[in-house]
Amino acid sequence: MLSIGAGSPDNRREHPLKGKKVYIPPMAYGSGRAFASVFRAIGVDADIVPPSDDRTRELGSRYTSGDECYPAKVTVGDFMKLLDQPDIDPEKVLLFMPTADGPCRFGQYAPYLKQILVANGYDQTEIISPTSDNSYEGLGEMAGQFVRTGWRGLIAADILQKMLLLYRPHEVQKGTVDAAYQECLNDLCGTIERSPTTPPAQLRAFHASLVRCRDRFHAVPIHRDASMPLIGVVGEIFCRLNTFSNDDLVRRLEEYGGQAWLSDLTEWIWYTNTENFRKLRLHGRLISKDGLMAWIRKRVQQRDEHVLLEPFKEDFAGYEEPDIYEVLALAEPYLPPDGVMGEMVLNVGKAIYLAKHGADGIIDISPFTCMNGIVSEAIYPRISKDLGGIPIRNFYFDGTQSDLDRDLGVYIELARSYQRRKKWKRQ
Ligand code: SF4
Repeated sequence: MLSIGAGSPDNRREHPLKGKKVYIPPMAYGSGRAFASVFRAIGVDADIVPPSDDRTRELGSRYTSGDECYPAKVTVGDFMKLLDQPDIDPEKVLLFMPTADGPCRFGQYAPYLKQILVANGYDQTEIISPTSDNSYEGLGEMAGQFVRTGWRGLIAADILQKMLLLYRPHEVQKGTVDAAYQECLNDLCGTIERSPTTPPAQLRAFHASLVRCRDRFHAVPIHRDASMPLIGVVGEIFCRLNTFSNDDLVRRLEEYGGQAWLSDLTEWIWYTNTENFRKLRLHGRLISKDGLMAWIRKRVQQRDEHVLLEPFKEDFAGYEEPDIYEVLALAEPYLPPDGVMGEMVLNVGKAIYLAKHGADGIIDISPFTCMNGIVSEAIYPRISKDLGGIPIRNFYFDGTQSDLDRDLGVYIELARSYQRRKKWKRQ
């Protein structure tokens, strides 16, 4: 794997990714595209991998052992499909594979992917996994700009996804909101790539792009139906956001007359910030240079988010995302955050938040055998009982699901029934 963070100053003089192209697996389509633009903004060629399809599953199964989680299988399948293309030079390909600490298998997937590549003759293909722990390897002197632009790009992509899900269920003419969303993504990605690099000017450019996007959504004719059941969607981050992995569950939910409130991608970044602070506290280093840097980073992130959300105050009224500490506090009676880590804490806390903000049901999307989904599922009956019987349903995916339509049809009826008697009304 590429490593430049600990490299010599000489390493940093030449851009280490020059001549290569980064390929990103789109966890969420919009965030993936925005992230590719963030690479391009620092002069690195990048794109999302070609759309997943049956061949993705076929190659994912061929190159994995069967013990891996479904997101790993999809990602490996997409990467191997890419490398299989005749016009691709494996030496010039950089596969983007995020990594993280945590209680599950995710942290193992970058080294595991490397093993697969080497075993199948792609040893010249490199993997890039930039994190703060490895000083954003491979990015050299551009790391600072990459991190700031990346954060802004991901917030903006989350905002556009939220607008898509707020508007699409109510569109008068099918396809018009998707079309507006695509235009907005093009606008955002162009802005990311072309806007000035100085932080204040860049923030103004992102804000202006989002104002244009908001106005595009506003221009789409809709007929808002306030009685439509609102379904909170939580779960494992890749599977809930990657429409191929979850058989486009949200769109199918909309076809059954529901509206989704989907947990976004930046929720995980806020969570990793809290983990960082927890570890600093644990080691008595809250008052230290690292503690100060973490605090400054958080304040900058909060300010960026505040500025970019400002044009959407009215659209998001009643649908505001919670502060991450509120999510953890809500989860605490069921899963104390000091003893339990990872997405199960977020799923439980967010499910309660969504229920208390008017959701008529909660769906948890998880890969089959995902430990986060299994733990959450064990706790949901108690949460449902404590919240007046809100229907909470786990949907597991491994690429073989076939009765999703039947299950969603039954589920939406349960949500309608709860809607009539629920305690927490929507604003
Ligand atoms: S969260 Fe679940 S699916 Fe994702 S890597 Fe961990 S165990 Fe696997």
